Parts: sequence; structure tokens; C-alpha cells
Amino acid sequence: MSPPTLIDAPSANSAEPVALSYELFPPRSDAASVTLWKTIRELECTDPDYVSVTYGASGSNHETALDLVDRLQLETTLRPLAHLTCVGGTPEELSRTVNALLDRGVRGILALRGDRPKDGHLPDGSLRYAQDLIELIRRVERRRFAQFAAGKVAIGVAAYPVKHPESPSVAHDIEVLLAKQRSGADFAITQVFFHPEQYSALVHRARRAGVTIPIIPGIMPLTSLRRILRLSELSGVEPDARLVDRMRAAADDVETARRIGVDASVALAEAALDAGAPGLHLYTFNEHESALEVLSKLNLPRPSRPSLQAHRRTT
Ligand code: FAD
Repeated sequence: MSPPTLIDAPSANSAEPVALSYELFPPRSDAASVTLWKTIRELECTDPDYVSVTYGASGSNHETALDLVDRLQLETTLRPLAHLTCVGGTPEELSRTVNALLDRGVRGILALRGDRPKDGHLPDGSLRYAQDLIELIRRVERRRFAQFAAGKVAIGVAAYPVKHPESPSVAHDIEVLLAKQRSGADFAITQVFFHPEQYSALVHRARRAGVTIPIIPGIMPLTSLRRILRLSELSGVEPDARLVDRMRAAADDVETARRIGVDASVALAEAALDAGAPGLHLYTFNEHESALEVLSKLNLPRPSRPSLQAHRRTT
């Protein structure tokens, strides 16, 4: 019998590394910027694969979003994933923004539609769907391929464990995800969800329909009832009624409410990992404490980067 090849040999550590990323939003004031940068430094110590930076569909924070992306690239070891929304933007405007991101060295974009304006009116010629933005990014990328040394821009998209509020059905959501994959999406990050089976059912439906890209669960550390209700309002996702009741019962005891919420987030993340999730994306709300608390309870298998350890020892 020939000796086992490297491919056959069992690995020293059988647990596959799990991807880790965080979502941040651009600060709205100088004070918020100070808090955010403390958070960024704390999160940096966990060596995530990337941090995503949100982008307001209304256009109000585009400059601060680009500034944050710049600072992450220039002042930290973190890799930014820039969110970009296309609703209301023309192909020319969006091409300019994509080029500006690529000029800055960004190589990961989360291609989103953004929420439609309240009056529902879109300017003439504006893009309608995230799928249009993916195709636009790929067109810009093709024109600049030589710069990427045979690499490519990683494009992420949104996926929905709970039906998107405007969608006629969960089956339609899957058709849209499949269309986004066909147009060039490399991975998906999910909207928040409160029941573990919602993530596994999404993955099951997606795989049966031919979606092969990684679907990374978006997990929010649920530290207070106020946050849960706000999150539900923003995302249109109904919160878990039992969790709301338990948090309400603990309303006078902030620490107990926080523990209940963090435990619920850990349980969601564990269930998603058990269902085969290839990574976790933590919605931080620009706070590190609860994200780090959830992480410390999960004990994720993560690759260690020797260069980073050395960098930390010398700084
Ligand atoms: P789409 O995929 O375009 O879908 C929007 C709607 O149109 C859906 O109902 C879909 O079913 C339908 N649809 C899509 N394509 C077609 C088609 N070809 N034919 C018919 N119907 C179609 N919002 C922000 O403003 N800024 C952010 O930074 C941001 N970050 C987010 C990050 C994540 C991980 C997630 C999950 C959401 C984020 N959002 C953000 C919210 C997002 O913009 C909204 O959920 C928005 O309503 C839909 O965006 P989408 O990219 O899924 O759109």
C-alpha cells in the first residue's frame, strides 16, 4: 500500500475554519467617531476576515462611508467590504462610485438595492435591482482587469431567511438570489433572523434551486429589548415573541436582559453553524462589547495569522 498523500492525510485540526466578519456604519458625529474607533481597535484584535461598511440608500452618508473605508485601509489591518446601494442611482453615477472604490484599493463590494424612496418614485434611468448593480460592477471590473493581477472583485449580496417585505413569496426570493448568482455574485450575507430554522430552510431552498455560493448568516447580538424592536422595525422581520416576553420580564434588570439576549444570539449562531454555515457576520451596531461576548461564548475555529501576532507584539 502506498503512503497516504497529503490530500488523504487527516488534518491536524479537523474543524474547518469559520469565516468571521463584522458590520459597521459610518459615524454621524465626532463623538460617534471616537466610540467607533475604539470599537474598531477592539474588533481588530479578533483578526476578522473583513469588516463591512454600510452605505445609506438616501445618499446622506456617502462621504463618511468612503472616509471610513479609506481609514480602515490606511490605518488598520482590516479588509473593508464596502456596501453600495443602487436605488435611485444612474449607471454613470454608480460607475463613478465603483471606480472610486477600486481606486482606493477596495476589492470587496456588497451590492444592494437599498430601500426604495418612501414615495416610490425612482429618477429616470436609475437602476432598479441589486442584480443590475452586480452587472454594472462586473462591467467596470472587466475594463480594469489588468490592474487586479488576475484577481477579481468579490461581490456579496443580501439573502433573506424571512421573506423580503416587497417579495410575493420565499420562492421568489430564491429566484432573485439565483439571478444574482448568475449575474456574478460570489457570496451572500443574510438579513437578521430570530429562529434558527429560518436560516437552515433558506439554505435548503437555495441549494435545491441551484444556488451554490456561500450564504453567511447575519447575527445581531441581541442585548436589549429596545434593540430587538428597533431591528425588527428596520428589517421588517418579526421578532421572536418568546424572547421579547423574556426580555420584557427582565426589563428592570439590565444585566439579566443582556444575558438572555446574548445567549439567544449565541444559540442562533450555533444552530446556523450546525446547519453548515461557512461563517458568521456580526451586526455590531458599532459596539464591540456584545459582539465580543457572543464570540467568546462561541469559541470559533479560526486560522491564526503569524504575521498579525508578530505585528501585535511589536505595536
Ligand atoms: P434586490 O435583490 O434588488 O431585491 C429587492 C426587491 O426586488 C425584492 O423584493 C426582490 O424580490 C425584488 N427583485 C429583485 N430582483 C428582481 C427582478 N429581477 N425582478 C423582479 N423582482 C425583483 N440597505 C442600505 O440602504 N444600506 C446598506 O448598507 C444595507 N446593507 C445591508 C446588508 C445586508 C447584509 C442586508 C441583508 C441588507 C442590507 N440593506 C442595506 C437593506 C437592503 O438594501 C434592503 O433589504 C432592500 O430592501 C433590498 O435590497 P436587495 O439588495 O436585497 O435588493
